[in-house]
Amino acid sequence: MLKKNDVMELKIEDMGVSGEGIGKFDGMTFFIKDALPGDRVLARVTKLKKNYGYARVEEILEASECRTSPLCPLHRRCGGCQIQAMDYGAQLAYKQKKVRENLIRIGGFSPELLDRVMLPIVGMENPYRYRNKAQFPVGRDKGGKLVAGFYASRTHQIIPVEDCVLGVEENHTVLERVLSYMEENGVSPYDETTGQGLVRHVLIRYGFTTKEIMVCLIVNGTTLPAQERLIEKLRGVEGMTSISVNRNTENTNVILGDVTETIWGQPYITDYIHLRACGTDAFPKTGDAIAYHISPQSFYQVNPVQTEKLYSLALDYAGLTGKETIWDLYCGIGTISLFLAQKAGKVYGVEIVPQAVMDARSNAELNGITNAEFFVGKAEEILPEFYERESRVAAREDMLHPDVIVVDPPRKGCDEKCLETMLKMQPERIVYVSCDSATLARDLRVLCDGGYEVRKVRAVDQFGQTVHVETVCLLTYGGT
Ligand code: SAH
Repeated sequence: MLKKNDVMELKIEDMGVSGEGIGKFDGMTFFIKDALPGDRVLARVTKLKKNYGYARVEEILEASECRTSPLCPLHRRCGGCQIQAMDYGAQLAYKQKKVRENLIRIGGFSPELLDRVMLPIVGMENPYRYRNKAQFPVGRDKGGKLVAGFYASRTHQIIPVEDCVLGVEENHTVLERVLSYMEENGVSPYDETTGQGLVRHVLIRYGFTTKEIMVCLIVNGTTLPAQERLIEKLRGVEGMTSISVNRNTENTNVILGDVTETIWGQPYITDYIHLRACGTDAFPKTGDAIAYHISPQSFYQVNPVQTEKLYSLALDYAGLTGKETIWDLYCGIGTISLFLAQKAGKVYGVEIVPQAVMDARSNAELNGITNAEFFVGKAEEILPEFYERESRVAAREDMLHPDVIVVDPPRKGCDEKCLETMLKMQPERIVYVSCDSATLARDLRVLCDGGYEVRKVRAVDQFGQTVHVETVCLLTYGGT
């Protein structure tokens, strides 16, 4: 009988949704962190349940063909990447399979349908250095030295990583300068356990097209001692555009507090998202671009290169001619809405976070876009309420029966009430952008039971080295 701490030899056959290797031993299924499909490993049992268990790799006896040398020496300890040891081609195949299997298993779609409608996943040209935003906690290591880095997987212990390979190289320079400013001026890091100390996090944002940099120090207090020394050090970094201090004196895991003060430069950086022509594999930039102002608190997609591809596909699937009325639900700062607005008659965005809606409105203004209107609230409330109210008086026919509805919900997917109203509105096309293929599959089933047909499914990898994947789908009503 197998017990905890026993060592077993097994072959890894598959990979689970969180990137863990899956293998069988003694009729039981084991989930094994850091093991890859194709590996033969010695693994130590860490936890046993009735017919499954967890184990840890002790030794790789035979390495899988998809094993590669990860760029980051800390990839196993850090909580950020789950599958860095897998070569990028295999990562893409894993993600494509994950989306397909969820659509079959949860959505009840047939493999034959998916063979017809599912296009190859869109990968990245460079699956490293793609993030435009990084938030490094600051603390002390065991020897008392100032460090910045990341939290170890499932803990709040800081692993010093001044150069994360998913982020831009500039992060390293910025962190070095912030830490040396703290060292030289006796500025303390925040200690979560005691609630004492000043600097909690360093937030860095980088505009990929403009090369503008923003640094925001999140502090447990109101002011930063010798602030001008920090400014002196940071303003010399090429591209530095905005330096700010954000106050967060709460004992919380939420990184940013409510008040931000710009201490040098502008309160925001600017970046552009370009539209791309959606060939099957190539996505060349077209001339169209939308500018965005990004402040420390703004939501902005973290992988700008792949976002351009994802949203260009969404726009392509919307099939616009210039006259259409569109609802863009879960619109955030209006990233998709503003592209849609340039090619449609009218766009109505719905978003739950008031600050994001304010950003969406000012981004519309910044780009001279006047045919986009934004509503603050839950999609599952705004849409049904609007529908009930307006259908009684038979007004605003275009909004009641839009040509297209675009949705881009968070991981939990769309609320039933929202899907119900979408079905009542019966747009000719629905474009569903999803960051969780399990809830996508569930929601597509509801829409298809209501008369829609899946026409196109395409996964886009926004987060190389991690298990996450985005998917964009086109549905049309009654096969039109
Ligand atoms: N399309 C946007 C953001 C998509 S992320 C962009 O690319 O910028 C999902 C968005 O849904 C987030 O902005 C989140 O705040 C918002 N959201 C979450 N729950 C919501 C709800 N019930 N109703 C409306 N918006 C919601």
